[in-house]
Amino acid sequence: MAQEDKFKNVLSHAKEYGFVFQSSEIYDGLSAVYDYAQNGVELKNNIRNYWWKAMVQLHENIVGIDAAILMHPTTWKASGHVDAFNDPLIDNLDSKKRYRADVLIEDYCAKIEAKINKEITKASKRFGDAFNRDEFVSTNPRVLGYQEKIDTILKRLGKSLSDENLADVKALIEELEISDPLSGSKNWTDVKQFNLMFGTKLGASADNTTDLYLRPETAQGIFVNFLNVQKTGRMKIPFGIAQTGKAFRNEIVARQFIFRMREFEQMEMQFFVKPGTQKEWYEKWKENRMKWHLSLGLGKDNYRFHDHDKLAHYADAAADIEFKFPFGFKELEGIHSRTDFDLKAHEEFSGKKLQYFDHEENKSYVPYVVETSIGLDRMFLAVFSKALEDETLENGSTRTVLKLPAVLAPTKAAILPLVKKDGLPEIAKKIVADLQWDFNIAYDEKDAVGRRYRRQDALGTPFCITVDHDTLTDNTVTIRYRDTMDQQRVAIKDLKNIIDQEVSFKHWLQKIG
Ligand code: ATP
Repeated sequence: MAQEDKFKNVLSHAKEYGFVFQSSEIYDGLSAVYDYAQNGVELKNNIRNYWWKAMVQLHENIVGIDAAILMHPTTWKASGHVDAFNDPLIDNLDSKKRYRADVLIEDYCAKIEAKINKEITKASKRFGDAFNRDEFVSTNPRVLGYQEKIDTILKRLGKSLSDENLADVKALIEELEISDPLSGSKNWTDVKQFNLMFGTKLGASADNTTDLYLRPETAQGIFVNFLNVQKTGRMKIPFGIAQTGKAFRNEIVARQFIFRMREFEQMEMQFFVKPGTQKEWYEKWKENRMKWHLSLGLGKDNYRFHDHDKLAHYADAAADIEFKFPFGFKELEGIHSRTDFDLKAHEEFSGKKLQYFDHEENKSYVPYVVETSIGLDRMFLAVFSKALEDETLENGSTRTVLKLPAVLAPTKAAILPLVKKDGLPEIAKKIVADLQWDFNIAYDEKDAVGRRYRRQDALGTPFCITVDHDTLTDNTVTIRYRDTMDQQRVAIKDLKNIIDQEVSFKHWLQKIG
């Protein structure tokens, strides 16, 4: 299926099966703002809990907080967001459409990358089993030429952006003859900086208000609480503070569904370390975060690291974990070595010391910070889009199935009485009443059982449990597995264990080691 069609399927499935709705849809929606529906909220909660379990509860030296969205406005002066949280925007004079200049250039590079992939596919067909991908990529002149072109462009873009040389960003767009993807026009304005923070006001009367911002990242709530947590939690370096919560960015171009939203949720962890050890911790967290992703079994080939050429004003090293979304490899998570930039800036602007007394070294210092920051909504999109499959079965019929990792599935099991009589619904409801203490369980008695199976497949429910007439005499039920569609006869009393084995955090997170 073409990538675009696949993405369209993701969008319509998310709506049709109650995962994601456009915000304020009855008023024609609000651009790049979305609501999670009855199944979406379960999936989203499960992703958040999977992260929290792995990052907070399974680490003795990491604790969580939940800081407010509104913060003292000086926070954003200190963090650099007032002065530097900008994206370079460019307008097309003919189509009147607005774009992020850096994204136009990156999309241009993605097209060259698609050519590389085409060469690889062609060669792998030609050479069959003898094909060695790594060797081909490192020796084929055409591929090397394409790669060199990408590297040169991205290096120049990185340099122009970090030098704030916006004229050169425009020059690059012109030299590459990049046209408006919608109209084909090359009639561009100059590139301008645009601050992404949403402003709001605190206070009742017009002449007595304070200008505030909706936080554009959750990290600053952690930094300003660094000493509070360290002291009250008696934390010893190295230690981490984690939180999940809403962040807001007035994105210039918000396309691609929940990939780029104006209101979204982040899951961040700031790890405080001794100065000089940050590189080592940065590498460790890169590895640990990749393992977390791989533990979900969505396929190793769908992830890659992208090391940054252009570093943010606070970082001495940064990498993204990119995921293969239906529209190509894009950032899913950032791992940043943020130095002591934030704590030092807050010391300076607040006049309060934000230092740690290291008993081993017998001295105080401002710790360095390694951050892991992942968008919950992007993770939702990654899991959801990878899980959605249209399968053709052996008998030629098709089914739509959402092969979500069972640990994240919104509903763990659906209990289905074969018919709506003979006491079967009563037994089924008793099973629901028992299992719902431990799992999110659905009950469904409408339509033929085959249709009910399909409905649960499309919702990603890993188990369907059918109560039939034999159940009346032998207390067994049929359990059907979503992915294989295998069916087994099992005792009702064993259901809890069977489900738990497949959906428990332990079963999945143990793989990280
Ligand atoms: P991008 O380059 O895609 O704009 P970023 O580098 O600005 O992202 P960070 O500031 O590093 O992103 O934020 C950390 C994570 O938050 C990102 O990896 C992403 O998963 C998520 N995120 C950032 N912006 C958005 C958004 N507008 N909508 C949804 N998730 C977002």
